[in-house]
Amino acid sequence: MAFERIALPSQIPGQQTTVAVHRFGPSTGQKVYIQAGLHADEHPGLLVAQKLIEQLQYLEDQDQLLGQFIIVPFANPIGLKQRIFGHVNGRCDLGTGQNFNRGMSIDPSAINDEVLNTLCHDPRENDEIFRRWLKEQIDTRSAEFEISALHKLLLSLSIDAHCMLDLHCDDVALPHIFYGKHQPDDGQLLTRCMAANVALEEDVTGTVAFDGTHTQPWVLAQKQSNKTLFSQPCFAATVELRGHTDVNLALANQDASGLINFFKHKGLIQQAAEKIAPEPTKTIGVEQVKMVTAPGTGIITYNCELGDFVKGNQLIAKIVVLDQEKPTEIDVLAPCDGYVFSHTQHYFVSPGQTIAMLATDKNQQSAGEQLAF
Ligand SMILES: [Zn+2]
Repeated sequence: MAFERIALPSQIPGQQTTVAVHRFGPSTGQKVYIQAGLHADEHPGLLVAQKLIEQLQYLEDQDQLLGQFIIVPFANPIGLKQRIFGHVNGRCDLGTGQNFNRGMSIDPSAINDEVLNTLCHDPRENDEIFRRWLKEQIDTRSAEFEISALHKLLLSLSIDAHCMLDLHCDDVALPHIFYGKHQPDDGQLLTRCMAANVALEEDVTGTVAFDGTHTQPWVLAQKQSNKTLFSQPCFAATVELRGHTDVNLALANQDASGLINFFKHKGLIQQAAEKIAPEPTKTIGVEQVKMVTAPGTGIITYNCELGDFVKGNQLIAKIVVLDQEKPTEIDVLAPCDGYVFSHTQHYFVSPGQTIAMLATDKNQQSAGEQLAF
């Protein structure tokens, strides 16, 4: 294992922020990049990354690693510093207001004829040409804000990976995984290895997060050609490891083992792969997620559980109104049939606030539309 701490450009006199990087396996193999805590208020992944480091060290000692693995166990030290009145916020940069998991994609207009003309008839050679070009795009990027310096550092480690996994979590949720709809085989394999309940297949041609930043350029380049341009584009996914408070050693060990099993199935670890979970309960396009919003202000209590299949107009929650002369409740009805896989952990709700997410069988929004801000 190689370990280093890479310094971010210091913006405050007397303060130096560093990002820890662990490397395992031969540097010549396929490259896997895994990070946790890009949203610094999401802590399950921070523990999973530590368990993953333990397992990778053991496998490296046994000479079992065929790919190179780069682990960034806390991807956002800037966000971790945001302990404000006792609570680590860490989702958006305090300096710019920008969500740490948005606004870092490679400009789609940069994927033009000039770039496509550098490609040849050999998809394997094209993989290498395109990965070099992607690295150049990151290396020449400006990094004047603290958040842009962080994005540049993380992307310089990950943009040429064959596989990139970004560990996140939701409020209160069952495990669910986002990946590009152009890579259903790898996405479904990962979902089953992690025993996740919902697989969410995304159109990655619009606004993208860290995962889509890795897949979008390959998709946009391929769209401009009727030949198969590439042999092995990057596979990238956002792994939502349940909810904020699902942090314990048993789950972390289970999730790290699930990730290791995925890499065994992909031939990046020499040991025989283990059995995987059956198909997830729901495999849908992201546009089939129904965001249920609060119809009023007050304290919410739920009449449904995660994992329930609810019917349209079924009572799923009540909001207890706080400012009426007599105690009053507002019924929250399911807007359609669906599978409840996430709900809010903020029990004081206001109109428009998302209070639950349902996996449904129909399109609920346009492809490419973002679920969360
Ligand atoms: Zn997140």
